[in-house]
Amino acid sequence: MLFGMLRVYFRLFSQMLLVAHLVSLPARILGGMAQVRRIIQESEMRKFELKRITAALRQMSPTQRKVVATELAALDTQPASTVLVESRFTAAATCPHCKACRAIRHGHANGLQRYRCRDCHKTFSALTGTPLSRLHKRGKWLDQAAALQAGLTLHQVAEALNIHVSTAHRWRHRFLALPEHIQARSLCGIAEADETVFLLSFKGKRSGLGRKARKRGGKASKRGMSNEQVPVLVARDRAGATMDCVLAAIDMRTLSAALKPVLAKDAVLCTDGSPALSAAARDIGVEHHAINLSAGIHVDGAWHVQNVNAYHSRLKNWIRRFRGVATCYLPKYLGWFRALDRESASGLKPAQWLAMALGGVA
Ligand SMILES: [Zn+2]
Repeated sequence: MLFGMLRVYFRLFSQMLLVAHLVSLPARILGGMAQVRRIIQESEMRKFELKRITAALRQMSPTQRKVVATELAALDTQPASTVLVESRFTAAATCPHCKACRAIRHGHANGLQRYRCRDCHKTFSALTGTPLSRLHKRGKWLDQAAALQAGLTLHQVAEALNIHVSTAHRWRHRFLALPEHIQARSLCGIAEADETVFLLSFKGKRSGLGRKARKRGGKASKRGMSNEQVPVLVARDRAGATMDCVLAAIDMRTLSAALKPVLAKDAVLCTDGSPALSAAARDIGVEHHAINLSAGIHVDGAWHVQNVNAYHSRLKNWIRRFRGVATCYLPKYLGWFRALDRESASGLKPAQWLAMALGGVA
């Protein structure tokens, strides 16, 4: 009896379902057709847009087409830049706020994986806390990196990447913020040290110079060391490890403070025998060999300063293209050249520059 009733109910229920299905069928067919119509419309529109774009391309000048090509290339390289940025967290996503490694995926933002820290509950991406944070146009970052390797001037970068000169300036300084601090921590064996000078420059500063502005780098009004010049110390061992720094003054205390932390205890220092460097060597307590260049002696067996002097001349040759560097930015340019010179044999790839800019090792 109960079984019979159940069978009747089941038949009634399935008939109701069938009726409901038949009733909704035309609506669903109509809905499906509308969707198909919309897709066709969209593709027609895209075809129309595409025709308009290609027609516009034909009317462009070669320079304008180059700009379009640059923008298209940037769209193509954006994924590669994103992969490189995200690769910072390949092992584990480290929270830039509290340095904890307990983060969970938390959606996406600006095309990057977003994380949420389980400890401090703040969110972050692989760019948060890096010098490249909040920079736009990620598709052009690898080209910016290539421009650093090529040593392009700001105007050349702006033209090649189709960005404003002020953007090129900001990008350069953000990309160099970390390489500026990558230096040899220890000089071993025979180390050579020597100073060179750069013209004091307030490039980019529009007021408060206290003297007439020089044009495009220019020359110092007095010969020799003066307060118009900024001294830079370069020390380099025979394996090529290099440290340099802008000096506040050329005296024993300043030179000793700069050299002492990097010179290995058993290092042998070669200098041109200037009083300040000789006194610094005595103060540090390392073996010191002074080369009397003014007497025409350039090499005394293993003792010479030819490596460091060759470095000076490479640096000066390279920096000349910038027609004077603002003194406040000089450490960045020194770091830039150190990176170039360190990898001069093979050259740094754009991906390596980008990794360095993000705090990785090239
Ligand atoms: Zn945290």
